[in-house]
Amino acid sequence: MNDRVVLVTGGARGIGFGIVEAFANAGFKVMIADLGGGNSAARGASSSAGGDAENWNYNLANKQDLDQAQSKAGQLGEVASCEVDVTSSDSCVKAVAATIERFGQLDVLINNAGVVQSGPLLEFSEDDWDKVFAVNTKGIFLMTRAALPALLESKDAAVVNTASIAGKKGYADMSAYCGSKFAAIGITQSLANEFAPSGIRVNAICPGIVGTAMWLEHLMPSNTTDIDEKNRDFEDAMAERIPMGRPQTVEDMGQAALYLATARNVTGVALSVAGGIEMN
Ligand code: NAD
Repeated sequence: MNDRVVLVTGGARGIGFGIVEAFANAGFKVMIADLGGGNSAARGASSSAGGDAENWNYNLANKQDLDQAQSKAGQLGEVASCEVDVTSSDSCVKAVAATIERFGQLDVLINNAGVVQSGPLLEFSEDDWDKVFAVNTKGIFLMTRAALPALLESKDAAVVNTASIAGKKGYADMSAYCGSKFAAIGITQSLANEFAPSGIRVNAICPGIVGTAMWLEHLMPSNTTDIDEKNRDFEDAMAERIPMGRPQTVEDMGQAALYLATARNVTGVALSVAGGIEMN
């Protein structure tokens, strides 16, 4: 993989960082793209999509996260980072340009950036609804459109979208998130057909339940602020819920994303990586 380049959105932490490490370990050159906080395009675009990017209902990645991710993954191989707000077309174009400038090409795009908000419909704000779709759904469109000219130049191009098991089944109080992830799978299948004649494969991973900020800070609010205790509570709760007896890890997601990016005749797939909690 030494001559291939991947760009990972939302790559500064969580599942995105698991994907970054898997690709760096496999020899890819990696561009980590995330909010970072210093991006004026990010602030402008996200405020029109409902609220400041860094001040969501839980903290999103900041510049320190981005820098730490680059230095940690940099020990595995050639890794660079740039700021991106996937809700801004201009910002997406700049992230692709930064990748080409740094590595000379782009072969694999991982559309992983995402946000969650949950709650009963009557209490759900229009701004939050728009923001969830702006990042999780429109972000895939804007990033893929920005990357397409470079992907068409590649001899071995692929796109992997991070959808969710919430893109295969609806859950109570999750209509915006589930809707945005069902859409992500629809976009994946549509682009897989559209790009097939050009040889670009498009697939999605559907993570089950991973102990990242989305779960630990939002979906499973806990009384404790102690991170170890929080993790233990989370793992105990998920051990009972998931057939294979444990929550998924960011490494599980990295392995699946790497498989989909390198499987030469697989396209249009939405692969559940969920320990059996979702089998469709
Ligand atoms: P996370 O919050 O740690 O990671 C999300 C990343 O996306 C953050 O680094 C954040 O800064 C970035 N991001 C948010 N808005 C952005 C924007 N406008 N532009 C660029 N980057 C932006 O949570 P995670 O669990 O690692 O989430 C990664 C992906 O996995 C998301 O698409 C999420 O919906 C999906 N997912 C997560 C789970 C889970 O159990 N954690 C399950 C299914 C799907």
